[in-house]
Amino acid sequence: MGICDSCHSGCCRSFAVPISGADIHRFTHHENKAFWDFACRWEDSEGLISRNLAPHFFFADDPAVPFVICLKHIPSVSFPGTTKCRFLTECVPDEEHPKGLGRCGIYGSRPHTCRSFPAKLNDSNELAILYDIPSNGRNGEAAYDLCPRQWNASDLEPNDTIQSLVLAQYEMTFFRKIAAIWNQTPGEWNHFPEFIDIIYSNRITSGPRVAADSEPLRKAA
Ligand code: SF4
Ligand code: SF4
Repeated sequence: MGICDSCHSGCCRSFAVPISGADIHRFTHHENKAFWDFACRWEDSEGLISRNLAPHFFFADDPAVPFVICLKHIPSVSFPGTTKCRFLTECVPDEEHPKGLGRCGIYGSRPHTCRSFPAKLNDSNELAILYDIPSNGRNGEAAYDLCPRQWNASDLEPNDTIQSLVLAQYEMTFFRKIAAIWNQTPGEWNHFPEFIDIIYSNRITSGPRVAADSEPLRKAA
């Protein structure tokens, strides 16, 4: 049984989860979800959410405030007065699991940030380093209790983990370039989804056309 299998998912309640433009495009185009249903902007004046990886975006209605685009939180039913990721499904508590179980409602297409938790790339981007997880992710409330123990390397599949981290870093690096363009003339927040959609729907272009009389490409043997 994996470390998360018997957990109420304090991580999905405690943290603001940054998403990339690629995550947004996948949810809107392949999961048929509306941007306003899953995304929000979190103020991040101290850089605690971006952690030098996710970009800061500025918006015309509040031009001095840096925001990170994140998954939306909604009120928790299991822990009244607290919040949770809008994709977290809460199971009813029982004797064995007094805080209930938490299940990701979009596990197969969850954001890259979620896939690589709780690891980060080392300085050469070749190995993964596990973070030490604190016992609680916010203010001490039980909803925000985190992992029942520290993670070990054997809790993660090594190649999948590295690939998720590399992909997360690649997409956030690209997203930072998109942020630099947006921030030149910050638009209104309600125009943001359309801007992202145009960018991410046009990531593929055709290369130079091959002349009709050139040597045809051959398949590998
Ligand atoms: S998308 Fe899934 S894994 Fe990520 S925070 Fe939400 S519920 Fe948790
Ligand atoms: S808090 Fe820790 S053990 Fe629980 S679901 Fe999140 S990562 Fe897994």
